[in-house]
Amino acid sequence: MIIGILKEPNDKRVSLVPSTLKKFKVEGVEFRIQKGAGVQASYVDAKYEKYGKVTDREEIMKHADILVTINPIPVNELPRIKKGTLLVAVFSPFQNQELIARIEKLGLKAASLDMIPRTTIAQTMDILSSMASIAGYRAVLLAATELPGFFPMMITAAGSIKPCKVLVLGAGVAGLQAIATARRLGAIVEASDVRAAAKEEVESLGAKFVEVPGAIDKRDAGGYAVEQTAEFMARQQEEVQKRAASSDVVITTAQILGKKAPVLLTAETVSKMKPGSIVIDLAASSGGNCELSKADTTVIHNGVKIIGHSNLPSEMPRDASFFFSNNVANYLKLIIKDGNLDLDRKNEIIDKTLITKNQT
Ligand code: NAD
Repeated sequence: MIIGILKEPNDKRVSLVPSTLKKFKVEGVEFRIQKGAGVQASYVDAKYEKYGKVTDREEIMKHADILVTINPIPVNELPRIKKGTLLVAVFSPFQNQELIARIEKLGLKAASLDMIPRTTIAQTMDILSSMASIAGYRAVLLAATELPGFFPMMITAAGSIKPCKVLVLGAGVAGLQAIATARRLGAIVEASDVRAAAKEEVESLGAKFVEVPGAIDKRDAGGYAVEQTAEFMARQQEEVQKRAASSDVVITTAQILGKKAPVLLTAETVSKMKPGSIVIDLAASSGGNCELSKADTTVIHNGVKIIGHSNLPSEMPRDASFFFSNNVANYLKLIIKDGNLDLDRKNEIIDKTLITKNQT
């Protein structure tokens, strides 16, 4: 069985790194790596050569049985891939149904890593958690460099500066990492979430939990939040407006699986924020938590910068690739038996990730 690792056209990360290949040790598996695949993430070809053949993209696409990437392979390249090949990537299937249909039509199979269930057994494969953690960390660093001031309190002979105030909306994996990072930089942090479990986690990181009563919190939603009523959203927006007006930085991370991200920060709220404040919207690519965000664009509104960077993990490509690689290797070990693909639908993880219908 040949596993192909391709270069990401618009991303500095690489799906599998040399240290993972070294440890992989699955009978009957050989790796082919596209030349330069890991260079932007600091993994040079010479490091891969010990564990597989470093070769051309075309050759890999023609021969691989499994192609592993982070982002889906561009549609125009799909016809060049051998029929029956399994594509493993982050397909965001709810937003990319046309692409999935095209993959099926070409006789290819697809496994989407973002569909891995949030269960204890699947934790080692959970790319959403590892990438969200990086995004949360990086969002704070970005805010700290964009803010026209300090994060920590400064008492100097030239005057004193109060610590900056950070508001984090959505305290899941990214939000909690953002809280921890902002606290380490000396900010005063407040955070909010609709899941009751988030309160204790937020407080344990030294931040204040902003509670909006009446949220729907379904425990059987697999750890994910569910859509809230219009009445709750209105009350939440009102509470957020009060907090945002006195914050220097707002980091939003709220997502609802398979749905457009909820609007937590309205244009009116942004208008009430201080000029020079920063909004980092980590949900910008799924519709945005801020009404004014635009994916991969910085919008300036009344002096407030709203940054909609949708791929912060790519800005930390060495460690992001390392985490992704370890996650994906654990997934590959699950679907390969005796050197063959073993897509057992009875396994919940495999069943949830296989997004094309023609799998055997
Ligand atoms: P996510 O990316 O889907 O959403 C981010 C956060 O936004 C969540 O905490 C969510 O509750 C919150 N949110 C959604 N709507 C909101 C609204 N209107 N207002 C405020 N906040 C809102 O979630 P995530 O970060 O991937 O993780 C969510 C949960 O899953 C967490 O409890 C996490 O601990 C759990 N989890 C479990 C596992 C596991 O057991 N293997 C792995 C990862 C995450």
